[in-house]
Amino acid sequence: MKLNIKELTLKEFAAHLVERKEPSYRAKQIWQWLFQKGAASFAEMTNLSASLRARLAEDFTISRLTVLRQAVSRDETKKFLFGLSDGHSIESVLIPESKRLTLCVSTQAGCGFGCAFCATAVLGLKRNLRASEIFDQILEASRSLSHDQRITHVVLMGMGEPLANYAETVKALDVMTDTSWGIGISPRRITLSTVGLVPQIQRLMEETKVNLAISLHAPTDELRGRLMPINRKYSLQQLMDCCRSLPIPRRKRITFEYVLLRGVNDSMDDAIALCQLLRGIRCKVNVIPFNPHPGSPYQRPDDAGCAVACLGEVAFQKSQLDRKTTVATKAACHTFGHVFRVGYFAPLGAASDALPLWAIAGAVVLAIGATALAPLVLNRMTDHGFRQWTRAIIWGVSATYLMRAGWLFWHG
Ligand code: SF4
Repeated sequence: MKLNIKELTLKEFAAHLVERKEPSYRAKQIWQWLFQKGAASFAEMTNLSASLRARLAEDFTISRLTVLRQAVSRDETKKFLFGLSDGHSIESVLIPESKRLTLCVSTQAGCGFGCAFCATAVLGLKRNLRASEIFDQILEASRSLSHDQRITHVVLMGMGEPLANYAETVKALDVMTDTSWGIGISPRRITLSTVGLVPQIQRLMEETKVNLAISLHAPTDELRGRLMPINRKYSLQQLMDCCRSLPIPRRKRITFEYVLLRGVNDSMDDAIALCQLLRGIRCKVNVIPFNPHPGSPYQRPDDAGCAVACLGEVAFQKSQLDRKTTVATKAACHTFGHVFRVGYFAPLGAASDALPLWAIAGAVVLAIGATALAPLVLNRMTDHGFRQWTRAIIWGVSATYLMRAGWLFWHG
């Protein structure tokens, strides 16, 4: 039986070519045909000899997904139903937004995590997708685009839990992100969403550079346990401890997704609890009004605008909160107050929690103060050598402070 060529890694395929007395660099050329030019047959690979193309066709197949259905909504969002070789089907959604074209891909056929509000949960888990079935969604969706369009972003938020299919998901990410032979989407433009499998989250952040999104949907263990059974295995405390310990680069944030369910998780108390839960985590909150589906007991909030505004306020607070050392939050209806404690000496010390703008302002004041005071101090000194030393120290400290503040500002 022929092997699907996309199931091999570049290294494995290069070894295969060497065994057949072909130069190993051909592997990269063939990979470019598959992933950059979207070749669907070996015959299209015109920079290979006819004999090599014939031998490849004898040994391998090139997998493709079958487009079972395609639907385009009024806002141009395109939904694909793809058929797999064993009869199962998966969904992908192409979402155009100003300059972005985002594809939401699936990582499992069905899902076994049983989240109470999720339409996919009803299907149960059919099986994990192979790596090729994950990245083939990008290749197949790309075929539906015009020649000047390109998928710019990918979110792993379709059917299934990507981290429950860890090895194949990471293998697919390698193909998606490689720029020399792969699809070439920057990991900064790829977001993986998880229900919160703590050990795999840590591993993913160590092994890849993709963005992390966590399906949170509730601010307390009691409520989250009801909505998401996974919370009984990994509590909110464990999940938040994990998030706080992740090596997230300064310019990145974790996204927390929060689906608003009427009368379940959309109160102001929930908003406050959410804000307190996320304290100290550099993140943003993505608030999504529930999209009702047949058979679901949940509903979209009555006044979605109001509830979203409240929780949107939380998201805004979080964007501010990320840059400070502590926050105290009290809330009346629609009103949140904060107490900031800013590390104004941070440019010289542990800077990670400081507000860069405050730090810059502090540095400027110090520099002006040093400029104004230095002549006064120096003129009172009679010893020339001592005066020189004092001048050097004042300017040295000011310059260090300024440089550190500049670094903070630049690196956010
Ligand atoms: S993990 Fe995701 S796909 Fe699975 S049931 Fe929960 S929300 Fe749905």
